[in-house]
Amino acid sequence: MATLTFIEKKCYVCNAVGRFGEGGFLMFSPPVGLDGHPSNLTPLFTAIHICPHCFYASPDISEGNEIIASIVKDERYQAIAGNGTIHELVRKYIAWALIQNRIGNDCEAARTMLYATWLSEQYGQVSATSQCRRRAITLMNSCLTQGGNFEMTRGKELLAIADLYRREQMFDEALALCEDTLAKHTLSEDDEFLLRYEEKLIRNHNSLYATIAEAEKNF
Ligand SMILES: [Zn+2]
Repeated sequence: MATLTFIEKKCYVCNAVGRFGEGGFLMFSPPVGLDGHPSNLTPLFTAIHICPHCFYASPDISEGNEIIASIVKDERYQAIAGNGTIHELVRKYIAWALIQNRIGNDCEAARTMLYATWLSEQYGQVSATSQCRRRAITLMNSCLTQGGNFEMTRGKELLAIADLYRREQMFDEALALCEDTLAKHTLSEDDEFLLRYEEKLIRNHNSLYATIAEAEKNF
């Protein structure tokens, strides 16, 4: 079992010194959920740090620049990143996504907001999960519109967006995206199979969490 090591960091924004669990390379177990949800979210626990004083969230809070510092000091950022009703593990991903969005990096923001969605659901934060999902959908669409990707196959990216729509009971949007993807994209056999299962769930107005294993068993 890996041991967690702690490292001392000085916050770039407020200069406070704190000790944080060392992150390291973010490597997930294979996806189990239709939205790419891995079986184990532990790698996310320490991949982003948040300063307890100014709420600056980053993979490395000792690094930053003046633009990031001004985003962190902004009222809107403080209201979100310092919102104590949201679990800190979730909040730091929302905060990093907000920074990435503000500096024009919507693909990194999209990926990060998807992580926030998974963590929020794991911690049973119903209202925050819904907000994270909707924000993730917007950022994922923005990333794809800009010609970017959030590190999945294109089929799996579109499947993840359709799955988030479905979980939010936005069945019309989910169905339109599934049909469009199946009609217009060249997909791997695996991705096409999962999109067809997703389509079936959408048509049944099923908004429950669904797994790849379940698709293989039931479809
Ligand atoms: Zn700080």
